[in-house]
Amino acid sequence: MNLILLAIPFFVLLIITEVVIDRVSKTGFYRVNDSISSMNAGLLSRVIIAFKKLIPLTIYIVIEKNYGLFDFQESVGLWIIAFVLYDFCYYWNHRFGHEINILWASHVVHHSSEEYNLTTALRQTSGSVLSWIFYIPMALAGIEPIMLISVAALNLLYQFWVHTRHIPKLGWYEVLFVTPSNHRVHHATNECYIDRNYGGVFIIWDKMFNTFQEEINEKPCIYGIRKPIKSWNPIWVNLHFYTQLVRDAWRTQRWQDKVLIWFKPTGWRPADMEEKFPLAKYDPSTFEKFDNPIPEFNTWYSLFQHITVVAAIVLLLKYTNAMNSTELLLLGSFIILSCYSIGAILQDKKWAVWLEYIRYSALLYYLYSLDVAELTFMMITGTAIVSLIATLFLKLAEEPEQASL
Ligand SMILES: [Zn+2]
Ligand SMILES: [Zn+2]
Repeated sequence: MNLILLAIPFFVLLIITEVVIDRVSKTGFYRVNDSISSMNAGLLSRVIIAFKKLIPLTIYIVIEKNYGLFDFQESVGLWIIAFVLYDFCYYWNHRFGHEINILWASHVVHHSSEEYNLTTALRQTSGSVLSWIFYIPMALAGIEPIMLISVAALNLLYQFWVHTRHIPKLGWYEVLFVTPSNHRVHHATNECYIDRNYGGVFIIWDKMFNTFQEEINEKPCIYGIRKPIKSWNPIWVNLHFYTQLVRDAWRTQRWQDKVLIWFKPTGWRPADMEEKFPLAKYDPSTFEKFDNPIPEFNTWYSLFQHITVVAAIVLLLKYTNAMNSTELLLLGSFIILSCYSIGAILQDKKWAVWLEYIRYSALLYYLYSLDVAELTFMMITGTAIVSLIATLFLKLAEEPEQASL
């Protein structure tokens, strides 16, 4: 049972509800480009997780099988213990994710939206390579991998609803749990809020380890990261900080710094890099959200394409186990290419239209080669043909000056 797959209809319903509330109350918490980028990052992360199926033996399984201290019988009590233990491990994973360069390179994706709404919750990283280390205590305790996956999914699902600006403080509930108010603080770049409130479900860990900060009415949160990415490309969003670390490690003269840079506190750079290639200092008073106007048709086109990719991810999640490696790689690659292409349209890249032609021509050729006439295939074919025709109406300008990759 894939909990994330089951949750997709609720995600969609709640996002639509929040968009309606946003439009009616004119709060302006939603921008199409930002929301699609957040959801694209989420889709990408799910494809990468599905690809991991191709490497079945993970370190967690090996440790749990060979070194697990206890052989627990499944019970309600064990599920509760596993849920709480996971959240404790998550707290440290999340905290180090903010405090160490190599871990921030992955977690930065979740913070890269300059808005804060339910789609921000879906902006998840695809590049987390070291997170598993923080869950080794659960393997050593003898928690079965399936239980870890389930409590991890429940933890992630809980975090969805806290990404909203429409829910105020919740009284006594704030004492124990992560809430919209205390998680808004976590996403803020204001000096008084930075690196606070790491909990996933319980806020008690932050109170125990002195990382808690309450939301202050007089200090409205400024969302985003201190070195804005200025991009709607979900692949670049995942790679940009890794790229900076690789570049600095390559260029710096001291060999110790080539290694140390990865494990130093977030933002640390070798002295010669600071001197030769200084980065702009963050100044909240001059902060401006990244935005670039594009024709209305392009916005609607991107939105329509995004909906088709959501349908594709539902197929992927539903049939992951039934698909062979080739099918999984083909569908996964199509989703990744689609997310990349939609990001390029939102960023007004002229070449995006060619990418769209290639994407849909390849899909139509593939469907034709399958030679099946099921309703799903006919619907996909119809969508591909309509999309190909729609690309003729895309008007893409030259790249806007302020945009990066
Ligand atoms: Zn975080
Ligand atoms: Zn968050």
